[in-house]
Amino acid sequence: MSEQNHQKVIIIGSGPAGLTAAIYAARANLSPIIFEGDQPGGQLTTTNDVENYPGFVDGISGPELMEVMRKQAVRFGTESRFEYVTKVDFSSKPHQVWVGEKKYTADAVIIATGASARYLGLPSEQKLKGFGVSACATCDGFFYRDKEVFVVGGGDSALEEAGFLTKFASKVYLVHRRDEFRGSKIMRQRVLDNPKVEVLWNTTIKEVLGEPDQGGVVGAILEDTVTGETREQKIDGIFMAIGHTPNTKIFKEFLPMDETGYLITKPDSTATDIEGVFAAGDVRDRVYRQAITAAGNGCMAALEAERYLTELDD
Ligand code: NAP
Repeated sequence: MSEQNHQKVIIIGSGPAGLTAAIYAARANLSPIIFEGDQPGGQLTTTNDVENYPGFVDGISGPELMEVMRKQAVRFGTESRFEYVTKVDFSSKPHQVWVGEKKYTADAVIIATGASARYLGLPSEQKLKGFGVSACATCDGFFYRDKEVFVVGGGDSALEEAGFLTKFASKVYLVHRRDEFRGSKIMRQRVLDNPKVEVLWNTTIKEVLGEPDQGGVVGAILEDTVTGETREQKIDGIFMAIGHTPNTKIFKEFLPMDETGYLITKPDSTATDIEGVFAAGDVRDRVYRQAITAAGNGCMAALEAERYLTELDD
């Protein structure tokens, strides 16, 4: 194998966790390679306005924020590759990472492959993503002041997001496919007690109505899961809260995960069970899932990788 395919640090994934890890690793002279994956910049690239990332008094668009992070990482010597890692092998050292047929090795690997919000999978929903269909109330709730919104789901995320959205929206309809919530008792009660929330039990969304170039979402066709009856309802925005899927498929054989596939790291650390392999951001965080917490986590991973590599050299 050629020398140039061996790296001190390989970073997989290019959201705030991966790119922050790259900035820190590059500034520590580790010349990292970052494989940006099939959605360079990660989940934030589907968000129009980011108003809660510190440092941007007037807000910044998601794609722009990720572009400046990438430029900052590259400025200090990160090599950015718009390539998708297809396979890893952490069973021996150095660790091995493949992009298709091409193999790389690394002394340290930082996994920052994130998580993907689940969507219903309707073509009309996909078309209106970012135009009234969102999967992040914290990011986009602010834009629904005095408007009416749907939140889809019946777990803790849906209950939490419904409550959060009542700070802005005049009315929140919680659209749940069954007649009882999956979420915890306390969250359930809080939502049921909230006068701005109305639960549409046994209901699913059949189709999202609206056009991206004509103001986005205007309504939805709802179906009663018991009777099969359908009806149309006007609505200004739809928030999907039907869970997230961590992007961890290629690590299954090597790293411990919880029952839903999130990577498990050591307490107060980004270290995994395998020496030299670190995990940062949404791939290991099912609770906070914010750009700023992911970035902080990426910083931790790079510092821990640097410390690990220093000890290897000693
Ligand atoms: P979740 O618990 O898996 O709930 C997903 C919800 O979406 C369920 O109610 C499910 O319906 C519904 N759903 C799934 N696929 C659907 C589909 N295709 N169409 C319609 N509805 C669909 O996910 P989550 O709410 O994101 O929570 C994930 C984990 O994080 C949980 O362990 C949760 O407790 C935790 N969490 C905790 C907090 C907190 O404590 N503050 C906040 C958020 C999340 P069914 O119920 O019918 O399956």
